[in-house]
Order: sequence, then C-alpha cells, then structure tokens
Amino acid sequence: MLKRAYEFAQKAHEGQKRKSGEDYFTHARAAAEILGKIFPDPSTLAATLLHDVPEDTRVKLEEIKTEFGGEIASLIDGVTQLGHVRMKTSKDKFYVENMRKLFMATSQDIRVILIKLADRLHNMRTIEFIPPEKQMKVAQETLEIYAPIAGRLGIGGWKDELEDLSFKIVNPKEFELTKKLLGEEVQKRGENLKELEKTLSHILRTEGIKYLEITSRVKRLYSLFKKLERYKNDISKIYDVFALRIITRSTPDCYAALGVIHKHFQPVPGRIKDYISIPKPNGYQSLHTTVFDRQGHIFELQIRTDLMHEEAERGVAAHWFYAEEGKPESAGRLQSRWMKELRAWQEETQSPEEYLENLKIDFFRDRIFVFTPKGDIKDLPQGATVIDFAFAVHTDLGYHMMGAKINGKMGRIYDELKKGDVVEILKTKQPVKISRDWLKAAKTSNARSRIRHYLHEHDKGLLQRIKELKLQDLSLPKFFRRK
Ligand code: MN
Repeated sequence: MLKRAYEFAQKAHEGQKRKSGEDYFTHARAAAEILGKIFPDPSTLAATLLHDVPEDTRVKLEEIKTEFGGEIASLIDGVTQLGHVRMKTSKDKFYVENMRKLFMATSQDIRVILIKLADRLHNMRTIEFIPPEKQMKVAQETLEIYAPIAGRLGIGGWKDELEDLSFKIVNPKEFELTKKLLGEEVQKRGENLKELEKTLSHILRTEGIKYLEITSRVKRLYSLFKKLERYKNDISKIYDVFALRIITRSTPDCYAALGVIHKHFQPVPGRIKDYISIPKPNGYQSLHTTVFDRQGHIFELQIRTDLMHEEAERGVAAHWFYAEEGKPESAGRLQSRWMKELRAWQEETQSPEEYLENLKIDFFRDRIFVFTPKGDIKDLPQGATVIDFAFAVHTDLGYHMMGAKINGKMGRIYDELKKGDVVEILKTKQPVKISRDWLKAAKTSNARSRIRHYLHEHDKGLLQRIKELKLQDLSLPKFFRRK
C-alpha cells in the first residue's frame, strides 16, 4: 500500500517544483520519513505521502478514496482542513493558548495532528527558500502554536527542532548571542563533562549498578534563551546547560543509580525531582538531580529507563507500540487516550478567564468550525446556516448578504454548514431586504437578535412612511393603530 501511495503521489505532483527547485514530491516524502521515525503506521504514512495531493494537484479526494479507502482519505481531508486554519499569533498568552487548543480540537483524529506537525517540521527545515516576510510569519506561528503542541504531545525531539529553527528567524540577534554564549560554555566545561562521564561510569560499575549507557546533552538554544531571560542573562545560574543521561533497563535500577550518585557526589538541595513517580503532564518520566562534581562544578543528571527515553522522544506516538501485552494499540485506543489528553489539558487552568475559555471548549462536541476564505475560524453550533456565518463575521455583512459560495460552489443563504466548510459571502452595496424566513434559518442568538432588530426597524420605518402619507386616519389594521 505504501509503495502504491508513494507512486500515486509522485505521479500526481509530477512537474511541480518547490521553491528550492526540487520536485514537489520530495516534500511529501520527507514528511513521511520524519513521521515514520516516530510513528510507522502504514495508513498514516500513506496519508502523509498523499497529504498535498487534493489541494495542490488535479487529483480529487474522491479518487484517493476509491484507490486507498475511506480511512486514508479522511486523514488527508483532516490535514487539508487544518491547513485552512490561519493561527493568529499574539502577545496575549491566553489567546495563544486558546489557539493551540482550538488547533487540537479542530482535528478529531490525533493522526491528523501528527501529519501536520511532520509537514511543518519539513517546511521549517527548508524555510530558507521562501521570501523573508513569509518566513517570519511561518516561524512565529511555529514557535507559538506548533512547537508547544509537539511539546504537549511529548514529542521532545520535534519540539526542540521546531523551536530552534523558528528562533533563528523570529529573533536572529538573540539567536546568535545565545549561540555564542553556549559555545563559550562548551569550550569552558566540555572537558569537565567528559571527565565526569568517565568517573560516573566507573562508580556505577564498581557499585554494581546495571545501566545501558551514559550520554550527555547540551541544552537547546531556544530553551537556554528562555531560561536566560528568567535569570537575567547569568548563565552561571543555569544548572542544566549540560546534563548527563543515564539510561537503565528498569525503574529499580534508576533509583539505585540515584542512590549511588548521591553517595559519591554532593547533591544541590531542592533540585531532586522524581518524574517517575509523578510524571509531567505530557507523560515525561525521569529522575533529575543536580550535583557538584569534585572540582565544584554543577551538573544535572537525568536517569531513566530506555522505554522512558524512547517515550520522551516519541511522546503520544510511542503508546502505539508499547501497549499492554506488547500488542500495538488499535487506532481507537490511541484515539481515546488522545481525548483523555485533550481533556486533561483543558482541565489545567490558571486563571478564571482561562477557565471560562475551557468551558467553552467543552461544547466542542456540538460545534462546527467554518472558515472564511482567508482562513479565519468561526465557531458555530451544529445546524448553523450561511446566515449565522455572515452575522458571525460582521453584522454589516449580514445586512448586505445576497448569496454565498460554499467551498467554491454557489450556495443558498439558508444552507446548513458542515465542519470545515470554507464560506465566502457575496454582498451588495445596498442593504438587502430581510424576510422573516431568515429568522427561521438562523440558529445563533447573535444572528437572530440582529435579524429581529432589522425587522423591528423595518416595521417602524413602514409605519413612519404611512404616517407621512397622512394615511393614519384610514382604517388601518389594529396593529398599526395601536402603535
Ligand atoms: Mn505539505
């Protein structure tokens, strides 16, 4: 199936080029390679290979459905729809947080998010080929929306890479400064680190602690930059610029290693963290401690099993492989974990405002998301019509609406909208005459109150004209006489 998808996508994109001059298909293939490393599920990878076909080639989604089945077609459809969402970035932290949640909730299948993240990661790796203004927009969106979502899903490797690639574009000056600072630290302390690594492996072996390997890691630039901001740019106050990782086979070995380490090295008080007993919200597990080496340098140590390490890289995608009894989880089980995760995120509240926003997201089940041609999202109740949409965009647009295009095709203003529809309202210069039928078709209280207002004003205007015509003495219906 993968081979067929590969050839199908390659053929569909034939002749198309990327801004880099490469064949367009290289992008789809690279995205599938990225995703395949953490989530080698055939249907998802086939959908990744085909993800830009319906939008960018003449081949329709229907054709893909006939060729590859409904599951793959619906994944691609989800990716296309998510591609229409333009995430607005902002200085307002709550706003951005809600954009992230909206992004996640908009797509009902977690595999769609994984494809979208892999797609973005490849686009970020090749961002140098697009014009600078566009680079800035994409990088900002990546930093504020995509990287935190990768982090939230526990996919550490993707989050780090997305952050560093965007950081370089969004804030080039600080990027270079941080890079220089880190370079100097590596110069100064790289040797100590190697020394400590040797000492540590010697101690663990002589104390009879089983471990698989010791590795070292240097802090990523963006995360160092964020921390430097908090510590007034004093790098000597940041204890985890370098960290040594001890990977073991089992959890008891982790605690045993920690005990031995504290026996030989003085720990820094208050820096011991047991994320094995109490994992981070994204599922991250590890023991952390910070110790003084024999020369008085401070180092962070992270101790975890190989499985925990794997999960720290693959996050939510890792559960696919490590379900109970060694059986891969079905897509359904993964999905229910995903829903749980989404709910958990919503329950983590920090402020009353955010709490209210979260409540709103609870109603997502019976809400649909519809897009303007520019990609702005309108959140409407199920059953909403074009009329509701027009008033949701702008009151004036409602009053001047004469028709609509739904997904590029002419539609009626009474038409019910579906999740993911792209709606363009056609308007006139003069306000249109609104009939009572509008009221019947409107589902949102906003549209209904606007229409009622119009109808009321309209009646009043009519009465006024009747008065001007000095017809008030005529035998008018009771309704008018009373007024
Ligand atoms: Mn793409």
